[in-house]
Amino acid sequence: MTHVGVLALQGDVREHQVMLESVGARVTRVRRLSELEDVDALVIPGGESTTIDKLLRAFDLRDTLVERLHAGLPVLGSCAGMILLSTEVIGGIEGQQTLGAIPMTVRRNAFGRQVDSAEVELVWEPDGSGMHATFIRAPWVEAHSASVEVLATAEGPDGSRHPVAVRHGRAIATAFHPEISSDARVHSLLLQLVDEAR
Ligand code: GLN
Repeated sequence: MTHVGVLALQGDVREHQVMLESVGARVTRVRRLSELEDVDALVIPGGESTTIDKLLRAFDLRDTLVERLHAGLPVLGSCAGMILLSTEVIGGIEGQQTLGAIPMTVRRNAFGRQVDSAEVELVWEPDGSGMHATFIRAPWVEAHSASVEVLATAEGPDGSRHPVAVRHGRAIATAFHPEISSDARVHSLLLQLVDEAR
């Protein structure tokens, strides 16, 4: 059984755990180094990227996490998790750090402060079908390297289109919250990446 960790420092940990268990994973909530070292894949949940960033350092998890990501640990980051996986943040706070797993620049709170939360019908590019997505103070991908595959895009308030789901190697990031839905395709993709890594 695939053993997936959900980083449990802050954010919507429980929803990811439920979704992962529904697709057959064994789940551990990760707060300690020994737990991080033990998992086959990791989810970085939505929440507040600046808080998770600080707690990663306070809990002494950051260096090992960067190393494991660099070594190809399959990972899924949603919303704040997408921000943490990026190489650069626009609109971050002073001193905010990221993990640099996906060569992309993300814009924090990109859809505007007034767009607190939105339900959007996306096209999931890997199979061309629709995906119902929930955005909560979400980022979008402002720029990315050619090696980043775009899995879905969404329209901003000004009509411009931006990637909101991407994949780079064994890292997946979504600006929306796939854990708040009945659609398990994103979490299934993470388990597929674990199988490919074996
Ligand atoms: N705006 C939040 C941040 O910057 C992300 C919101 C979310 O994860 N729902 O971290």
